[in-house]
Amino acid sequence: MEVIATQSLCKFFGKVPATDHISIHVKQGEIYGFLGLNGAGKTTLIRILLGMIQPDQGNVYLFGKKLTPKFEGWNDVGYLVETPFAYPELSVTENLKVYHALRGLNDPASIGRIIDRLKLTPYAHTTASALSLGNQQRLGLAKALLHRPKLLILDEPINGLDPEGIVEVRELLLEMAEQGATIFLSSHILGEISKVANRFGIIHRGKLIRELTVPELKEQLVKKVLIQTRDNRKALACLADGGYTTTLSPENEIAVGDPAAIAHPEKLSALLAAAGMPPIKIVVETEDLEMYFLRTIKNHDNT
Ligand code: ATP
Repeated sequence: MEVIATQSLCKFFGKVPATDHISIHVKQGEIYGFLGLNGAGKTTLIRILLGMIQPDQGNVYLFGKKLTPKFEGWNDVGYLVETPFAYPELSVTENLKVYHALRGLNDPASIGRIIDRLKLTPYAHTTASALSLGNQQRLGLAKALLHRPKLLILDEPINGLDPEGIVEVRELLLEMAEQGATIFLSSHILGEISKVANRFGIIHRGKLIRELTVPELKEQLVKKVLIQTRDNRKALACLADGGYTTTLSPENEIAVGDPAAIAHPEKLSALLAAAGMPPIKIVVETEDLEMYFLRTIKNHDNT
């Protein structure tokens, strides 16, 4: 089942197309990582998905139902958008009690459980205004997760969290997806998003320029053999004589992208050793999500 579907969503701020004909489809159980530079349009799309702003064109469907002011599925949705809102003078527990009541929930024990799960127990009676940035973020996540939503929409969920918090949120999201929840999240921290998402969308200047699953991403990641020798100039000539196509990286490393070299880097090593230039470093490097993302955006700008 498609939990999120959008049809050609457009939203203009003046002449700026913040979202430009975006059609996204997210299936049940997916963790969809939404990637984009600052100002690409991520928050705008998330706000439209949550009915916080109206698109100029296009429609949103959540759980197969068209988003209108009469949409009744909000109790199945949890969200965190930008700075999490909390009543500043109320404690963590009181904030969650308000939220529990607003959602019309009937399991009071869920408040203690979520406080515990997000490691907020020592701050249960601290007012929201006195929380650190990371703990405010934890409170925001506690509100998003309190009612065990079927769909979780999170804008930059690990903002302000310490390394321990990042790992805890990662585990929590993976656990929720395993239990069938669908998660749509944006983040700038691509190393982290690559550890949780199983599908990615790249938004650039308001346009969805690429969508791919983890296996599709793996296929597209560029690999190269990186080599360093005591005399890279001679080594370049030696490898060229051996029929390899080489470049010199800005870090003064020899990069060889030939599939034959990637499959058998030991042959390059032997060739260089035989010519009296044994490598001091030889490694097969695979692009990571961040490098892929930046390359995709650059290529898009150049076309
Ligand atoms: P960031 O990662 O910096 O949060 P983003 O990808 O979430 O960026 P958006 O906040 O969606 O980007 O902004 C997309 C574009 O729309 C930007 O050019 C932004 O300046 C513009 N924009 C967003 N909200 C408004 C608004 N309320 N009024 C005018 N322009 C806006």
